[in-house]
Amino acid sequence: MTEASSADGYSMRRETERVVNEVAQGLRTLDGGVDWFSGLSPACRQEALQEVTGYAMQAHITAADGRAGVARSGVKPTANPAVMICMDPPRYGFSGLPAAEHVTAFRVLVSVFTVADTRRRETYCEGGCGHHWHNLATTTEQQ
Ligand SMILES: [Zn+2]
Repeated sequence: MTEASSADGYSMRRETERVVNEVAQGLRTLDGGVDWFSGLSPACRQEALQEVTGYAMQAHITAADGRAGVARSGVKPTANPAVMICMDPPRYGFSGLPAAEHVTAFRVLVSVFTVADTRRRETYCEGGCGHHWHNLATTTEQQ
């Protein structure tokens, strides 16, 4: 294994996108996603965290999504990332947290994204959509 350089930033982001959306769509467990994240180098974790933060922002999560996501994340509601995501509006400075809290932040963020993205898939996206990340299973099989 070699340390990922900045040239790998693009593939790092694609990998993050795949893992997070697999969790959100039930193709991978949250623990499986956290295992993947835990195996990254500290620099890659920070980058992945920034990426997932962007997904959460794009999904327009609400304080209610935050609470629902924290409840299913297995993280204590008093942990820093859990407190931040439940604020109204949420605070998004997760990659600025101490490195020791990055795994917890990832767990919270992916859980909350799952809540908000599931709602989007069941309403706006029902019957098909152009979001490539909502068509993970079919992208390679059918077209
Ligand atoms: Zn969609």
